[in-house]
Amino acid sequence: MNKKEMICIVCPMGCRLTLQEDVNEEKGYKVSGNQCHRGIEYGIMEQVNPTRALTSTVKIKDSSLNRLPVRTDHPIPKAMLFECMKLLNHIEIQAPIKMGDIVVENVLNTGANIIASRSMA
Ligand code: SF4
Repeated sequence: MNKKEMICIVCPMGCRLTLQEDVNEEKGYKVSGNQCHRGIEYGIMEQVNPTRALTSTVKIKDSSLNRLPVRTDHPIPKAMLFECMKLLNHIEIQAPIKMGDIVVENVLNTGANIIASRSMA
């Protein structure tokens, strides 16, 4: 890898980052174009282990709506998003449920839980 460019998505500023391998840097990469230190963390993380928060829905029984919005409580590896979506397709929970309740604990051994994004009676 010589240079890689990416947009930092940590905040709405959307800085244009340039990532370059550099053996003199502690983590092996030099990041430029960032306006704050979070851009450095994001750029390196995006290179070595990209993660994303997942939002989706699951089926819910005995509620006014058929599906409950859910999300991960921590980002999970980007490579596991599709597998996680497939898993959620097969899940059906029972109403009532409160916002923040755990729907799937430690989903796919990622350390993240799938939690309810809203309450449903
Ligand atoms: S580098 Fe800092 S200021 Fe720029 S988008 Fe990322 S978080 Fe925001």
